[in-house]
Amino acid sequence: MDLQHWLGRAAQAIQEWADTFGPYQTHPSVVVDEDRFADAFQEFTGRLQDNYPFFHPYYAGQMLKPPHPAAVVGYLAAMLINPNNHALDGGPATARMEREAVGQLAAMFGLDTHLGHLTTSGTIANLEALFVARELHPAQGIAYSEDAHYTHGRMCRVLGVDGRPVRTDDRGRIDLDAVEDLLRTGEVGTVVLTAGTTGLGAVDPVHAALALRARYGVRIHVDAAYGGFFTLLAGADGPEGLAPEPWRAIAQCDSIVIDPHKHGLQPYGCGAVLFRDPEVGRFYLHDSPYTYFTSTELHLGEISLECSRAGASAAALWLTLRLLPPTPDGLGRVLAAGRRAALKWADLIASSDLLELYQRPELDIVSYFPAVEPTALTGIDRASAQVLADGMAGPDPVFLSTFKAGRKAFAARHPKVVTDAADARVLRSVLMKPESEIYIEHIHARVEQIARSLRP
Ligand SMILES: *Cc1c(COP(=O)(O)O)cnc(C)c1O
Repeated sequence: MDLQHWLGRAAQAIQEWADTFGPYQTHPSVVVDEDRFADAFQEFTGRLQDNYPFFHPYYAGQMLKPPHPAAVVGYLAAMLINPNNHALDGGPATARMEREAVGQLAAMFGLDTHLGHLTTSGTIANLEALFVARELHPAQGIAYSEDAHYTHGRMCRVLGVDGRPVRTDDRGRIDLDAVEDLLRTGEVGTVVLTAGTTGLGAVDPVHAALALRARYGVRIHVDAAYGGFFTLLAGADGPEGLAPEPWRAIAQCDSIVIDPHKHGLQPYGCGAVLFRDPEVGRFYLHDSPYTYFTSTELHLGEISLECSRAGASAAALWLTLRLLPPTPDGLGRVLAAGRRAALKWADLIASSDLLELYQRPELDIVSYFPAVEPTALTGIDRASAQVLADGMAGPDPVFLSTFKAGRKAFAARHPKVVTDAADARVLRSVLMKPESEIYIEHIHARVEQIARSLRP
């Protein structure tokens, strides 16, 4: 789709709607002269060049990419009205779009019933889920893996709850034996499972954890902020297919977080939380003297910790899902391409003398390091940092990122490594753009070339 054309159409459509209310005068205090704007705009666009090319296939670093053009057009059109999805009075159209889009996410996970809403981020969405967990198990702690997102520990502090990190196995998944030891003490009321860790894309065994809920009466929360949309590849044919068990089990968990601003093609400002039991809405009860006037229909602010939220986020997501629905044939194809790219690169690295896999990718995140002699953490750390820096310099750049692996985690995957430091950086590439599939051989060749140049 032609972005320039549709951005113009978006502005025009909103103007036509505005014109139906009749002409009005703009106050001189906000009028800006074209020449002054041109100057400011020039400075502004110049400064924006201080960025990494997240859109480009040669950017294979962090979890970053621009939104889909449909999301950009949807966001801009709605933003020109600027509805606030806190309440139906703030924007009935986008509030309804939010409920429909959230319904699609719930259906993607196979939830029969749900209460949910969008949030500004995965962090806030997880905070909401942990808040409800605390209300239901007020005297007990919350367990999550050592590889879970760092904000779980932070939000436990915010909530005044005891956060209990649990060790992971040699692929970065939560160790359920360690969880069970903790549950036997009776000190923990909620277990957080991560479906796609931020660092390595490891998928915790959600299905196996459900047995613990039955045995110990705990709540199960799934943090699928990064990995949630990979449920579209569960049991799929082809190399990209994922073992279905953990993904199918998500429908039975108590709450789920997913970030449309990660794998849902959205701009930042779009997370989501889903609760399986709509009754938890009672924990949000409040009475607001200045909102909720127009109807007895549910206002999203009544089930959300945040007040103001961009209706434009809901609009962008709704429009995107119209075109690329959360189905295997829709958004699933986007995720499948990144996953195939990761598998292909993993194979190339496995047969390379210059690079070594840190671990095999479970989703679309590849972790690897330059093969150095002797195989010791200090040398690996130094070489990884050098490849990162050299990759970005020069005329044929490739943009990577690094991941800090602790000594124990490293040794669990590579028992022969000399652990002469507390940790080592390895290289990490999140292949979340489907174009990665087309360019992965070039990226591999370039990274190998840099690794070779480091050799004496
Ligand atoms: C990104 C991420 C978060 C935090 O989400 P934000 O949208 O960055 O606030 C939480 N958990 C996981 C697993 C993530 O990948």
